[in-house]
Amino acid sequence: MIPFMDLDAQYRSIQEEIDQTIFRVIHSYQFINGPEVKLFEQNFAKAQEVQYCLGLASGTAALHLAYEVLGLGVGDEVLVPSMTFIATAEPLRQIGAVPVFVDIDPQSFNLSINDLEKRITDKTKAIVAVHLHGNPCDMEAIMEIARKYKLKVIEDCAQSHLAEYKGKKVGNFGNIATFSFYPGKNLGAYGDAGALVTNNKDYFEKAALLYNHGRKEKYFHETEGYNYRLDTLQAAVLDVKLKHLAEWTDKRIEVALYYTERLKNLPLILPEISSDKKHVFHIFAIASNKREIIINKLRDNNIAYGIHYPLPLHLQKAYKGLGYKQGDLPVSERLSQQFISLPMYSELSFKAVDKVCDIIESCLI
Ligand SMILES: *Cc1c(COP(=O)(O)O)cnc(C)c1O
Repeated sequence: MIPFMDLDAQYRSIQEEIDQTIFRVIHSYQFINGPEVKLFEQNFAKAQEVQYCLGLASGTAALHLAYEVLGLGVGDEVLVPSMTFIATAEPLRQIGAVPVFVDIDPQSFNLSINDLEKRITDKTKAIVAVHLHGNPCDMEAIMEIARKYKLKVIEDCAQSHLAEYKGKKVGNFGNIATFSFYPGKNLGAYGDAGALVTNNKDYFEKAALLYNHGRKEKYFHETEGYNYRLDTLQAAVLDVKLKHLAEWTDKRIEVALYYTERLKNLPLILPEISSDKKHVFHIFAIASNKREIIINKLRDNNIAYGIHYPLPLHLQKAYKGLGYKQGDLPVSERLSQQFISLPMYSELSFKAVDKVCDIIESCLI
């Protein structure tokens, strides 16, 4: 049995530290806005090399705040890749904005720069760059388009903690970036958690007002806001794990390079490896037109796999009202039929990778 990820192995490697931390927070009874929250925000900003970080209840909450803080609103069109988790697009509805789905590039699996520019209209106000699977988008090209058309840029870094584009950490290119610390993410809490980061003081201050009922002081509210707080227990757990994140990320990359070495001569599409980008492999996805055969054989051998994602957003029932049809975004549609996410975690042994690759190979020769 090879799992898709192994949260238990990770916990066992830091058990003492985690247990002590949780115990300490419980006995402080400061479950909301305890000192661990600020500490984690500071440490995460440092790790991600950004000026400001606001801990939040989830990555979805962070995206909602980002869209609101950037002034997006009713009728505004926002360019979003169709190949992403729905949370990238979903909060646009809360502010009355409209997602405009963009096709992806067949090598990077990220926003196709060509298709992006084609979908810009008078109503377009922003681009959401999702660093899918942990692979940074082509930020130079995206920022150039943003400047040309005066668009805001949000980086959805939910899958790309510590990833880099041309030597610079993701989250430093757009106006605001958002992170998720969902348990299975590269940095995962023991529950829901997220963050908003920015180098813009004004955006940070707006978000820092809205996330906690629009208040600066308890019971005095400048505006209406939300309860989007990161709780103390999650912040404390995240701060413990953050100390190990760079090492865990290096291990993921080693596993990914070994997969690549083993699979490179097979008729498969493999994740992009570019000298301009530090891909952090939240997901190691291959693409094959023999997906059914491969996943059946993986299943028969007790090897877990995932599909990220089986249906692009423009074809989801949730977005039927927007009028997209089959064939509108051909690369997203084709890859959604071909993607297979292989087991990927820091503790995954090369021996296990060998087993997975042997099985895939046997399906293709
Ligand atoms: C996980 C994820 C989110 C949502 O984060 P939550 O913390 O689960 O709300 C948003 N975008 C992408 C690309 C994700 O993978």
